[in-house]
Parts: sequence; structure tokens; C-alpha cells
Amino acid sequence: MAIQLYPPLFSRYFLTMLPPLPPHLSLAQLPTPLQLMPRLSRELGGPRIWIKRDDLTGTALTGNKIRKLEYLLADAQQQDANVLITCGGVQSNHCRATAILAAQLGLKAHLILRGATPPVADANLLLDQLCGASVAFYTAREYQARLPELFAHWREVLTAQGMKPYAIPTGGSNTMGLWGYVQAAQELHEQLQTLNLNPQVIVCATGSGGTQAGLTLGMGHLRPQVEVVGMAVCDSAEYFNSKVQNDIDLWANQYSPLETPRVTVRTNDSYIGPGYALATEDVFNTIRWAGRTEGLILDPVYTGKAFHGLVQEIRQGRYKHMDDVVFVHTGGIFGLFPYRSELGQASAVDQL
Ligand SMILES: *Cc1c(COP(=O)(O)O)cnc(C)c1O
Repeated sequence: MAIQLYPPLFSRYFLTMLPPLPPHLSLAQLPTPLQLMPRLSRELGGPRIWIKRDDLTGTALTGNKIRKLEYLLADAQQQDANVLITCGGVQSNHCRATAILAAQLGLKAHLILRGATPPVADANLLLDQLCGASVAFYTAREYQARLPELFAHWREVLTAQGMKPYAIPTGGSNTMGLWGYVQAAQELHEQLQTLNLNPQVIVCATGSGGTQAGLTLGMGHLRPQVEVVGMAVCDSAEYFNSKVQNDIDLWANQYSPLETPRVTVRTNDSYIGPGYALATEDVFNTIRWAGRTEGLILDPVYTGKAFHGLVQEIRQGRYKHMDDVVFVHTGGIFGLFPYRSELGQASAVDQL
């Protein structure tokens, strides 16, 4: 008879220990603050909204990707790699963070980018170029159809040039990158303990799922009663529930096959709007409202869309029985600038 070891029965009733963190570099400004948004909370009349300020992990390095890269780049260095290959949209925050860190560590970065070559490099792409990353542009269609091939191609090209490549998947979301948000969950847990807060829900934007996966795993160990909700900014809840669960299972098998508690993956896909990097006027209005009410800067691709989702849920009374909710601000400020024509219009009516 086979003995079922995963997940162990007791783990559903008792907290299990997180395995020790694997080797990682210290690159981000940590811990990031946990801040109350008193006016936004009051105007909504719902629970108190706390923001975990992961937009403050750095200046040009703002955002969530650096937490994952602390683990991935330790692995790259351990393998003696000297060039990082990664991928994303032309305005990818992840590619920008990778390009900057590569330059800081004396490595090269090669970026596989989805989208047309813009006439002038702006925002994240401008920072990629300043940090000396080499870039290759592909149409959305080609990128979607051939991404694994493109990685293999560039790996070959760079190897033939005598370099040692290290490939990082979309958003840095693999089992290694996931550790960054397991560690972030631990950090947030300690801050909540210090403030004596017991939020029942933690919300983040979900683009490749690594942030949601790490938080779900970390909280599953430390605060199993907390719901971690990923607000999808592109694909469906079905897609992310299965991707995030799969990443969690791979992580569990690799690092803690006997001790990983069973977790519930929750994705909300009601606020994607027209599609990835496409936002409606509602989202722009939420971004304007957060800016003028609290000095909180959100972007239309990730944090603005996800925060707009949280605001709608609060307005609909979904969280009215709760005292506190936490929103993880995952950065992305440079993603604002390509929307200057939509956001800069003085005639926009305030609908909130
Ligand atoms: C990448 C990104 C996200 C999404 O994080 P994932 O771990 O890829 O799901 C959210 N916000 C910002 C600003 C990002 O750059």
C-alpha cells in the first residue's frame, strides 16, 4: 500500500515550518513599509486599507521583480553565468529590473521583447538601454508562438560568443523566484504581528503568478486563515489558478515535500478590462483618485488595475465584515509614462 505523504494530515491543523531560505543576494531595500491609507479607507467606508510598499524596494529598481531576482541571480552566480536572458513586453518591469541588476553585478543582459521596435525608447525600455542591455523585438504573434525557441536561439548565439547564459522565465516566476515572495510573506507576517493586525485578505496584481504563488505559500504556512487574492491583469482565473497551483506543487516537491500545507489559490479575473496593458477610464480614474487623495502612485498595467478591483469589491460590500485588508503595491511606476495622453487629459470627469 502506498503511503500518502503529501500533504501530511497534521499540516492542515497545525502551522508547519517554512524550510530555510536558500542562498540569495541582498539587493532590495528591505523591509518595505506597511502603510495605512486613512483617506482612501474613509472615503470607501469599508475596511482599513494597508499598503505593503514593495514599490519602495528601490528607485529605478522599484517593484516586486527584485525580490525574485535576489534568488535567481544568486543561482546564476553560483552557476558562473555571465549573461542573463529574459523576456517580456517592451515595457516590462521585470526586464528593466533584470537589466539594472545585471549592470550592478557586472553581468550582461539580453532581453527578448514582445512588440514593435519603438521609434524612441521610453520609460522601462529607456532604462534597459541605459543599463546596456541588448534587446531583440518580436511581434506579439511570433513571440507567443516561438518563445521557447527564441530562448534556445539566443542561448546558442551567446554561447557561441563565448558567454555563459542563464535563462530567467517570464516575470522570474519559477520555483526559485517564488522564494522572493515566500520571504516577503514572512516579512509582512512580522509587520502584522508588530502592529497587532489580523487582516483576512491580502490582494496583489497577478501577471505571471509568482508574487501570488509566493504569498499564498508563505501565508499558507504562517497565517492559514488569510485569503491571498491575485487580481489577474491578463489571463483568466482558471489559467492562473492552475499555473499558480502548479508552481506551488513544483516548489513543494523541490524544497519541502513533507511539510508543505495544502493551500487554496484564489484569482479574481473580473477586472482585466479589454486586455493586458489596456485599461478603461474607470482604472484611470482610480489612479487619479489614489494620487490626489493619498499620494499613492499606481500604474494602468498592474497596480492600478488590481487596486481598482479591490476598490470595486469594497464598494460592493464584499469585505464589509473585515477590519483590515492589505494591498501589495508591486511597483511599476515607469509603466505610467506610456499612458501620458490618456492620463494627462485635464477634461477627465471624476467618477468616484
Ligand atoms: C510583474 C508585475 C506584477 C505581477 O507580478 P507576477 O509575480 O508576475 O504575477 C505586478 N505588478 C507589477 C508592477 C509588475 O511589474
